Amino acid sequence: MALKGADIMKKLPKTNCKDCGLATCFAFAMKLATGGIKIEACPHLSPEARNELDASMAPPIKRVTIGTGQKALELGEEEVMFRHEKTFFHQTGIAILISDKENESEIETRLNTIKSFRFERIGQELEINLLALSFESGKRDRFEALVKRVYETTDFGLILIADDTDVLLSAVTLCADRKPLAYPITKENVDTLIPKLKELGVVAGVKGKNLDEIAEITADLKAAGIEESLLDPCSDNILQAIGDQTFIRRAALKKGFRPLGYPTITFPCSMYSDPLKETLAAAALITKYAGIVVLSQVDTNFLLPLLVHRFNIYSDPRRPMTVEEKIYEISNPGEDAPILISTNYALDFFIVSAAIEETGMPAYLCIKDTEGLGVMAAWTSGKFNGESIADFLNTHNIQDRVKHRKLIIPGVARKLKDELEEELPGWEIIFGPLEGSDIPKFLSEEWKVS
Ligand code: SF4
Repeated sequence: MALKGADIMKKLPKTNCKDCGLATCFAFAMKLATGGIKIEACPHLSPEARNELDASMAPPIKRVTIGTGQKALELGEEEVMFRHEKTFFHQTGIAILISDKENESEIETRLNTIKSFRFERIGQELEINLLALSFESGKRDRFEALVKRVYETTDFGLILIADDTDVLLSAVTLCADRKPLAYPITKENVDTLIPKLKELGVVAGVKGKNLDEIAEITADLKAAGIEESLLDPCSDNILQAIGDQTFIRRAALKKGFRPLGYPTITFPCSMYSDPLKETLAAAALITKYAGIVVLSQVDTNFLLPLLVHRFNIYSDPRRPMTVEEKIYEISNPGEDAPILISTNYALDFFIVSAAIEETGMPAYLCIKDTEGLGVMAAWTSGKFNGESIADFLNTHNIQDRVKHRKLIIPGVARKLKDELEEELPGWEIIFGPLEGSDIPKFLSEEWKVS
């Protein structure tokens, strides 16, 4: 749990020397409590005070990184039980399981599908994050060949799953510089694995029969200097899984219980064989705190809704998604191109711009800053009225780019017509369609410059 300024103040030298750049130790304490300055900024802390502050100010859920480079996946550092209290920070990683029991062509097809999987929503790319490679064949050579192949032909972060400790160790060694997750680290194998995990700097996937056992293992790992772990409480079904995930999150955030202060890994792929049930379980676990969900299949019909769900859960409720206020030129518009106007609510922008692009017709899309409000909310709050729209268009000299004087406004903003005609004398105000999806038909049938 975060320390308050007054608690921090007790550990400071209280000399007000200003070496931290602040006027007093009290100012430093207050800024440190809100994350505005680093502990290192005060050079006069005793080692004991520094260690105490470091320990008490560490996030209640440890930050863990799997993978390297652009595909590195960061997990943890969550601060709230409920998204609306602040926001969730590090989105659940989606991992696809590949078993070494699959034949060559199945693996090839699966890898190609995963590599080519791309989906964009509101300007954000939604993607699969990790590959979970599972030792099921009983043949060590076969598993090692799979690990090598995936390591050499993809840049995904890797989860290496092998109950055989020797096989797990050799697989981890093959791709250690990719910083994989080694799973499972259990009560039985933890002592054997600790030296190698520490030497290679990989992430420990801790599996326990219950939460007490998990806490014992993470305590052992931490005592050995292994800081990055993920927790698997071995939940059999979705109800139990949600209970376990909630308990872990609550123990870390509300009780400050460090041995459970790590992100989690979950396996909807082994809870259900029906792909729909598996997807629904994954969706529930994305909502309720899973660090990673491991899926058995890579079917677009199931993955797309899951990725959109994750996107929604992990968008920041404090900040509407917005785009920059400006005039967007679509397909090199000329002086006959239509002018459309809308708000900077990101969803509206991407719907309207995609619809215009679909027509192939060059156009000017004028996006007015409404602080992320949609058309009607912006109108009622005075951020999208005749005066502000006219100011925006005049400031950007839209009249110099076209030879006509026609402005297409959103169909839902009919009340704007009179205001705009008053503010933009000589302009014809045209109602666009009510739905963005009708823009192509509207433009092809209605747009004429006479
Ligand atoms: S450097 Fe340390 S001792 Fe000096 S004012 Fe800042 S907090 Fe206080």
